[in-house]
Parts: sequence; structure tokens; C-alpha cells
Amino acid sequence: NMNICHQQIPDDWPGYRLDLFTYPKHYSGDLDCVYIPHGVIMDRTERLARDIKDDLGDQDIVVLCVLKGGHQFCADLVERIQVLNRNSKRSLLMTVDFIRLKSYLNDQSMPDLQMIGAESLSVLAGKNVLIVEAIVDTGKTLHTLLSHIQTFKPKLIKVASLLVKRVPNQSVCLPDYVGFEIPNLFVVGYALDYNEYFRDLNHICVMSEDGKQKYRL
Ligand code: 5GP
Repeated sequence: NMNICHQQIPDDWPGYRLDLFTYPKHYSGDLDCVYIPHGVIMDRTERLARDIKDDLGDQDIVVLCVLKGGHQFCADLVERIQVLNRNSKRSLLMTVDFIRLKSYLNDQSMPDLQMIGAESLSVLAGKNVLIVEAIVDTGKTLHTLLSHIQTFKPKLIKVASLLVKRVPNQSVCLPDYVGFEIPNLFVVGYALDYNEYFRDLNHICVMSEDGKQKYRL
């Protein structure tokens, strides 16, 4: 993939101090910093929506939201595309579908990937599919998902991911649309979880050691 243009957040990026922003009281002590503020996520999403609309023009697409982590990014991205659709001579018709994947326990990736809702993917046959994910780490999940979706013979597959991690042996599957490339660290918030916690946090944050202990399984 040669057309990736995205902000690379450097390894030494310290994030923002927590007291510069607001976050729910129930997570006080559980976080180290605000890594990407909600407003920056929204501004980047607006641009990704424009890039997607410019590329896909006035075709019909099926937006395939990868749950649970991708729901917030998917909702915000679809909303931005809708705004463009209302204000342009060409518009991109969208339908939305969902698939649920699970591979993490605590902050560790598990060898087995569970896929829920994959039976109904026959609707993707002959369609332009836009997969919307929150984060690509090793790329294993995306690779598994792509090979599964290909069996349903869609016309075109594009992938949008808000975050991509800079990791040593990342597989060749990289998204077509990337919000930010981040260092190899574990982040939460904006629907990304740690054992189901922190999805109800609007910023993308880095957890504290206390936070990891508190919600560990
Ligand atoms: P991969 O298969 O690319 O290694 O892992 C992708 C999946 O792992 C993501 O869809 C996400 O569910 C989870 N994941 C990877 N990195 C992070 C992270 O930093 N934070 C959270 N909350 N989940 C992550």
C-alpha cells in the first residue's frame, strides 16, 4: 500500500497531562496521560471521511464495523461522510453491518480469534466493502478478517483504521486509511477497552500501573 498518509506519533511523545482536559471521575488514578485528545480524533476523522469520499466517489458501499472497539470510530466516520453527502453533488450511499471479534485478555493478544456474526456476511457478495476498525496491532486480526471476507466475493475491499501500531514484525496487511500511527504501547478510550473498561472515555489514553492492576482478570 503506497498511498498511506498519516501522522506518525513519535516514540517519545509524552501525551498531555490529564488535568488539561476532562475525564470521568471513576477513572481517576487509572490513567497516565491523554495520548490523543477527543477533538484531535474528530478532526482527523473529518479528513479521513473526505479521503474516502474522494476515492469511492458515488458508488454504494457496505461499511463493516468491527466491534466492539470500532463502534465509536465507525459511527463518527459514517456521520462525517453523511455530512459530505448532504453538501455535495455526488454522494456515497452507505449501508452498515457489524462483525464482532475478540482476541485480547488484559493487555495481551490471545492466539485464538473469536468471530461472532460472520455467518451473515453473504450480503457482501459483489459489494464495495469498507472495513472500519479502531486499531491494527500485529495485523493478525485484519489478515484473518480479510481472508474470511474474501470468501464472500465482494467487488472491492478497503480498510480504515483509526490507529496502527508501529510493531517489529507487522504482517503485510495494512489499512488503506489510517488516522494515526502510534508506538507499540497499549491504549484505551474512544471505545477501546481493557477487559471491557475505559470504553466510556472520550480521549485515547495510556493507563497507569494502578489502573492495569485494578481491572486485571
Ligand atoms: P492484532 O491482531 O492486529 O494484533 O490486534 C488487533 C486487535 O487487538 C484490535 O482489534 C484490538 O481489539 C486489540 N488491540 C490491539 N492493540 C490494542 C491496544 O493498544 N488497546 C486496546 N484496547 N486494544 C488493542
